[in-house]
Amino acid sequence: MIKRRMTKEIKVGKISIGGNTPIVIQSMCNTDTRNVSKTVAQIKRLEKAGCELVRVAVPDMKAAKALGRIKKNINLPLVADIHFSADLALESIRQGIDKLRINPGNIGSEEKIRKVVEAAKRHKIPIRIGVNAGSLEKDLLAKYQGKATAKAMVESAMRHIRILEKLNFRNILVSLKASDIERTVEAYRMLSKKVNYPLHVGVTEAGTVFRGTVMSSIGLGILLYEGIGDTLRVSLTADPVEEIKVAKEILQSLGIRKFGITVTSCPTCGRTEIDLEGLANQVEKAVSGIDKDLHVAVMGCVVNGPGESREADLAIIGGKKVGLIARKGIIVKKVSEKYLLKEFLNELKSL
Ligand code: SF4
Repeated sequence: MIKRRMTKEIKVGKISIGGNTPIVIQSMCNTDTRNVSKTVAQIKRLEKAGCELVRVAVPDMKAAKALGRIKKNINLPLVADIHFSADLALESIRQGIDKLRINPGNIGSEEKIRKVVEAAKRHKIPIRIGVNAGSLEKDLLAKYQGKATAKAMVESAMRHIRILEKLNFRNILVSLKASDIERTVEAYRMLSKKVNYPLHVGVTEAGTVFRGTVMSSIGLGILLYEGIGDTLRVSLTADPVEEIKVAKEILQSLGIRKFGITVTSCPTCGRTEIDLEGLANQVEKAVSGIDKDLHVAVMGCVVNGPGESREADLAIIGGKKVGLIARKGIIVKKVSEKYLLKEFLNELKSL
């Protein structure tokens, strides 16, 4: 049983992060924020896939000024991702964003920081401090012999946190991302012992869909299993909708959240006499989006299939160009391979 570390609950628009609330899935648009229609379209696709919070980059004033129009056309809470600029942060807040990602120590003068913090307070907007190993402060790098160690990352995060706390601002979330699992996990473990602000977890620059999925599953899997993490982002060099699919599967595989039907399938072997790979993919596609808390299994043969799918609510067990359909281990039908998927889906409807 995973015991989640208790954190402070923070409101982000209409959702909450931290405390006892479900772990929130988020992503970031890769469209040009200044292109409102493209960005809105991508956000809508992300929402449909199950994204619950979306971030956009705000590289200039034109992008900041587009935020209001984006916000008006979407349902998801919107996060503005800003580096260094108080002006962009202030404009983003004016445009109605729900959360700001900015590191206060990088904004500049105390006066600029104060202005941003006061505006965030007035609009009840939380700030996420996002420490990345690749962009650590120069003096910290020097202190840690040029290495962005987990300890150095935590020290950087604590600096930014103290700046906000000194201004009596505690509406904070924190992330500590490195591109390798060991440092990422170590940094989050350390920070989670020091503060109770909600943590946004992720492995950064994880790679393409294949590598990034493996990296994120291991890194996030370790952290979430230890009860660390209140919102997650899977970083992939791909369409961000892919990030949502992976994030949902990570949470569902750990039993933390349910998103519909779990499909298990055997790896096939010399005993398989039907096109099980094709069938498993068709089943996975057909059941995605069905909001039922069920387990279905697609098994290749009658030798191990019946026993290993005994716990499944519904199973296909392959034979020689035929398949058996079983409910909780009890065979209910024998169908030719051609009609197997159709019959299986009919059975599923009745559950
Ligand atoms: Fe092979 Fe049957 Fe096991 Fe599938 S269920 S891997 S076909 S023995």
